[in-house]
Amino acid sequence: MTAVSAHAPQPPAETGLAASLTEVERQRILAKSALFAPPTGMLPDGRRDLVGLSREELTDALVAIGEKPFRTKQIWHWLYHQGVTDFARMSSIAKPLQAKLAERFVIGRPEATTVQTSNDETRKFLFRFRDGQEAETVYIPDRREDRGAVCISSQVGCTLSCTFCHTGTQKLVRNLGAAEIVGQFMAARDSYGEWPSPRGETPRLLSTIVLMGMGEPLYNYENVAKAMKIVMDGEGIGLSRRRITLSTSGVVPMMDQCGSELGINLAISLHAVRNDLRDEIVPLNRKYPIEELIAACRRYPAASNARRITFEYIMLRGVNDSEADARELVRLIAGIPAKVNLIPFNPWPGSDYRPSTREQLAKFAQIVMDAGFASPIRMPRGRDILAACGQLRTESQRERRSLPA
Ligand code: SAH
Ligand code: SF4
Repeated sequence: MTAVSAHAPQPPAETGLAASLTEVERQRILAKSALFAPPTGMLPDGRRDLVGLSREELTDALVAIGEKPFRTKQIWHWLYHQGVTDFARMSSIAKPLQAKLAERFVIGRPEATTVQTSNDETRKFLFRFRDGQEAETVYIPDRREDRGAVCISSQVGCTLSCTFCHTGTQKLVRNLGAAEIVGQFMAARDSYGEWPSPRGETPRLLSTIVLMGMGEPLYNYENVAKAMKIVMDGEGIGLSRRRITLSTSGVVPMMDQCGSELGINLAISLHAVRNDLRDEIVPLNRKYPIEELIAACRRYPAASNARRITFEYIMLRGVNDSEADARELVRLIAGIPAKVNLIPFNPWPGSDYRPSTREQLAKFAQIVMDAGFASPIRMPRGRDILAACGQLRTESQRERRSLPA
């Protein structure tokens, strides 16, 4: 016994080394992310978009045109609580100042180039940004209650190439800026006319945000964090951090910061329980293998029994859906406050996978449930309007390519 412990790794030293390696990786990820920066919020006519500025930046912009800092609170209220897009509607502001603001600033919204509402009420938007780039946003209403989730994109394309994901076939064009991330939520809310922002516990149609659209949010952390801070600000949209979930394919070095700085819920795109298989279907696993990912989940600060980590698991027939896989899954996540979302694979043209059979899904779910984890089977929504992430954008590109020159 003594001999074994003499050779055992010394935890404190190793923890220190691991921590500094993580810090180096974190800096590398942030530096790389900056290479894919979004365009500035300045229009060709010199006006600046106010959406997406932090409170401090908004104050600076107002002071730069000779206004007093107290205006920040007033304008923030009009932007994010009232949701106005026209300075002339800011009735607490005198007309001459309204005109001055309109000369220097705009209140931007992405342009909805396609809006499709499915038979099941899911609404999918294709938004075009100022430089012509496009990303998808989906609103998924809760069938039983007057509330729903807005699924937001964080990047145009994705650097990762998960084999089951349609976005993974599109190379990363660029990161979305804070204005474009908040703008997706605000434009979706425009579409339902849900302004002013409901306060406190007042029911809201657009009640939660899931960062699960196109792109890897932890590869665009700074813009995502800035956008989420705007959305959580109590004097504006005021969504609680409990109502926001970020989904990551496993960018381990950014997970701690996300938890401590934003405190939002975490969803992990696990999809496989063995490194050899996960290396193949979620190639980021080659950098951050399952053990490191699970360890980061165990220390995620915002996780508790009341706020569980969601493990997403896409069910691919004959690939990752065996009962042995299910048993390994529950062994891996034992002790983590967690639930498991089983996602039937949504096929797209050119994909090689097939969805698991109903029977296999049910068997898998039963094993997970018997181990004490909620394991809802997330029924595909909006099938009739191309549900899998990244499909609408490609469809629109295809249409454009086929238009006569
Ligand atoms: N990049 C992040 C967030 C966006 S992808 C991540 O990977 O977590 C979010 C989710 O889209 C994936 O977890 C996966 O569950 C889902 N998804 C992608 N392709 C899909 C498909 N063909 N069918 C069903 N769900 C899919
Ligand atoms: Fe990127 Fe997520 Fe799709 Fe993987 S699943 S390619 S990380 S968007």
